Amino acid sequence: MWRVSGSKAVARELAALLPPGAVQASSPAEFLADQTEGRGLRGSADAVALPSNASEVARVVAWCYEHDVAIVPRGGGTGFAGGAVPLGGGVVLSLERLVRVRSFDPLLWRIWVESGLRTADLRRIARESGLWFPPDPGAAEQSQIGGNIATNAGGPHAFKYGPTGAWVTGLEVVVAPGEIVAVGGPIRKDVAGYDLKSLMIGSEGTLGVVTAAWLKLLPAPEAALPVVAFYSGTASGCAAIERVLGGGLAVAALEYLDAATTAATARSFPAAVPREAGLLVIAEADGSRPEATRLRAEVLEALAEGAVLVHAPTDPEAVAELWRWRDGVSLTVSAKRGGKVSEDIVVPIDHLAEAIEETVEIGRRNDLEACSWGHAGDGNLHSTFLVVPGDEAELRRAELKDCWTCHK
Ligand SMILES: Cc1cc2nc3c(=O)[nH]c(=O)nc-3n(C[C@H](O)[C@H](O)[C@H](O)COP(=O)(O)OP(=O)(O)OC[C@H]3O[C@@H](n4cnc5c(N)ncnc54)[C@H](O)[C@@H]3O)c2cc1C
Repeated sequence: MWRVSGSKAVARELAALLPPGAVQASSPAEFLADQTEGRGLRGSADAVALPSNASEVARVVAWCYEHDVAIVPRGGGTGFAGGAVPLGGGVVLSLERLVRVRSFDPLLWRIWVESGLRTADLRRIARESGLWFPPDPGAAEQSQIGGNIATNAGGPHAFKYGPTGAWVTGLEVVVAPGEIVAVGGPIRKDVAGYDLKSLMIGSEGTLGVVTAAWLKLLPAPEAALPVVAFYSGTASGCAAIERVLGGGLAVAALEYLDAATTAATARSFPAAVPREAGLLVIAEADGSRPEATRLRAEVLEALAEGAVLVHAPTDPEAVAELWRWRDGVSLTVSAKRGGKVSEDIVVPIDHLAEAIEETVEIGRRNDLEACSWGHAGDGNLHSTFLVVPGDEAELRRAELKDCWTCHK
């Protein structure tokens, strides 16, 4: 191993290994931050590499390994954990040019794609053949399938269908010292030996760079019928969520927004929002049309009890509008003060109400506006503290030293 010194040398040597235009020495700003930018996180890099295929990725990894230069793999930059931010310099390895569909077998419900394909594009390709890729993290138009795999991303429909990892049957990964390896493949059962595929899923680029993935697909459900109910408080809303579960209603998504989140997003909600809304719950019934219709009726009954208002669109465009609104919740909340410090936490479902209320309490104790929303069925909250970017005192208070578990 020998070290190279200086950004120019790194960029020059990498450029010699890749086709023209695949290395940017000036490190454009859009490669230096992710969704943590609102809390002041921004990095700097010696170079940005934009390979177009797995062997070019392997060349970059081999060169960086040999010269002891850090690599930060980058997907769509929508992560909330700063994983794609080059905090200690090094090379940002962007996967955005690896967008090929290597093979698509709709009749076998499977697809083999490169890791830079955007999540929404993958979902569209599947949909055009009557199929469905269920994982739906909220920034699907920007995030990449490689980033989804690296973070094992979930989304509203992970409640019934599981997170991204549940849909991966094989991976192509570049590992140190620059080798392309394959684990799994176009196979639905793979239980012999060590489960290396699962080790890679969720490893956030620390074990290797995902360059392609074999994915399972499902026939798209014929109907998806959401029911939205507003409650006057957290307790009555969480009781409704437990009624859905306790009633054995196998909904596809079970979401919530607390009072402050509901208020912040009320203007763009596609129907009327009651003034006394203290918690909003969304439950979606899906399946064949008769199945979804029957389940929707049961969900309506379970959610109507104690609700101040129920909104249950059936027209596909109205349903799509509701989910577009739901996808925009994070950005609308961020826009309120310009930035947010947000933690993606999971609690046992019977502690959901406590976690929702304690998020607000932590904010109150630290003089911060706080709110939460998330995937209620999975006990998954985005506990959020609103900040003004650049307000150092506020950012320090939002560091969450005064955390929930510290008070237990
Ligand atoms: C509005 C909004 C809503 C969201 N909703 C959800 C949600 O419902 N559920 C959820 O789980 N997440 C959600 N997220 C966060 C989620 O993790 C990301 O959206 C997505 O999975 C990250 O993909 P990305 O391509 O943007 O990855 P990036 O942000 O670019 O990277 C994320 C991490 O993965 C690594 N990485 C990226 N690509 C690769 C690769 N090919 N190989 C190896 N490592 C790689 C990076 O180094 C980094 O550590 C949301 C984000 C936003 C902005």
